[in-house]
Amino acid sequence: VRCEVIAVGTELLLGQIVDTNSSWIGEQLASAGIDSHFQTKVGDNATRIAESLRQALDRSDAVIVCGGLGPTHDDITRDVIANVMGVELVRREDLVLKIRAMFEARGRDMPENNLRQADVPDGADTIAQQPGTAPGLVCPIGDKIVYAVPGVPSEMREMVLGTVLPDLRARSGEVATIGSRVLRTWGRGESGLAELLADRISELDNGGKATIAFLASGAEGLKVRITAKARDQAELDAVLDAEEQVLRALLGDLVFGTDDDTMESVILDLLAARGLTLAVIEVATGGYLTTRLSVHAAFSDVLRGTLIPCDEDLVDELAGARRADAEDGALRLAEAARDRFGADVGIAVGPVLPSAGGGVTVAMAWVVAEEAKAWSTSLPIDVERIRQYTGITLLNDLRLQLEPPFCC
Ligand code: ATP
Ligand code: MG
Repeated sequence: VRCEVIAVGTELLLGQIVDTNSSWIGEQLASAGIDSHFQTKVGDNATRIAESLRQALDRSDAVIVCGGLGPTHDDITRDVIANVMGVELVRREDLVLKIRAMFEARGRDMPENNLRQADVPDGADTIAQQPGTAPGLVCPIGDKIVYAVPGVPSEMREMVLGTVLPDLRARSGEVATIGSRVLRTWGRGESGLAELLADRISELDNGGKATIAFLASGAEGLKVRITAKARDQAELDAVLDAEEQVLRALLGDLVFGTDDDTMESVILDLLAARGLTLAVIEVATGGYLTTRLSVHAAFSDVLRGTLIPCDEDLVDELAGARRADAEDGALRLAEAARDRFGADVGIAVGPVLPSAGGGVTVAMAWVVAEEAKAWSTSLPIDVERIRQYTGITLLNDLRLQLEPPFCC
C-alpha cells in the first residue's frame, strides 16, 4: 500500500506553524512498513485541496488529510472530500448529539457553527476515536481510501494510531517493518565519508538490503543513517546489525556511537566503566563543555568539577607562569583541573588567541594517568563554531585515548 499525506492549512504555507504532523505521520508509516512517497502542504482553498487530493489518489492507494476539520468557514476538508467522492454531505444526528454533549459537559452552549462538524460525506465512516469535537473520517473512493484527521496534533495522533494505521496494515496484507540505525561520527566531512563508503554504497545500490544516507549535524557530527525494510523486527535487527558491522569496519574509530549516543554520553560512559573521574577547565568554550557534560545522567559519578575562568590573570594563575606556549598552557590547565578537583583525568580548552591568518587559535589538552596530549587548531572567528568544534574535538580525542585498544 502506498499512502501519502496532505496537510491542510494556509498557516503552514505562510510559515506561521511548522508541519510537524506530516513528519510524525511519515515516521509512523515508515515503521509500519507502508510506503509513503509524497507529502503535500496546501492552503485552505477548495480548488487547490481538491487538486492535491485528486493527484494523490492518482498515484497512491491511500491518502491521509490532516487539518481543516474545524467548525469555522475556512475548515473545508469535509466539503472537498465529499466533492471529490461525488457525494453530498449528510448531517449525522448521532454526531450532533455527541458534539452537543461535549459542550454541555463543559457547561457551554454549542455554537451553531459546530453543527458543520456533524456533516459526513455520504458513504463515509467516522473514526471511532474522537478526543475533540472534530470527528475523523474514513472515505472510500473506488478501491482507494481517504482518511481525514484534525490538525490538532494530539487528536491527529490518537486517530492515526487508533484507526488509520491498523486499517492501512490490514489493507496492505503485507507485514513489513522499516527501521533505521544511526552511526554517529566525528572527524570527517561529508565528502570524506562518502569517499570511504563509496564502494559499499554502490554495492547496496545494486540490490542491497539496506540504504545509507548522510546527515551533517554540526556539533553532533556527521550522522550515517542505515535504513532497511524487513518482514519483522528480528529480521530488521539482523540486517541493521550486519550493515553496521560492514560500515564500522570501513569507518574505524570515526564512529563514536549509535542512535541516541552523544559525544559526552560516550565519554562519561567510558570513564564510568573504567572507574575514572573527570575535571575540566574551559576558557574558549565558556561553559559549553560543562553544559553538555552535565545533562547526561552519569555525570555526577564521573564529573568532579569544571572551572570556567574568564579573567586573564586567573587563567595565567591556573596555567602557571612558566608555560612555554599556548599548547603548553592548555596542558597546564588540564593538569590544574585534575589536581584542583582531585580527578583522574583533566581536560582543558585554552583561551582564544589571534592567529596569523586573521582567524584564531585555540589550544586543547588532556591528561590521563601518565599520558598527556596538547595540540591547537586554527579557526575562523565564529564564537559558536569555536565552542562546538574545540569542545567536541577535545572530547573525541579523549575518547580515542580511552577506547580499547588504546587504553588502560
Ligand atoms: P480541528 O481540530 O478543529 O479540526 P483543524 O483540523 O482545522 O482543527 P487547525 O484549526 O488548522 O486544524 O489547527 C488546529 C491546531 O492544530 C493549531 O494549534 C495548529 O497549530 C495545529 N496544527 C494544524 N495543522 C498542523 C500541522 N500540519 N502540524 C502541526 N500542527 C498543526
Ligand atoms: Mg485549519
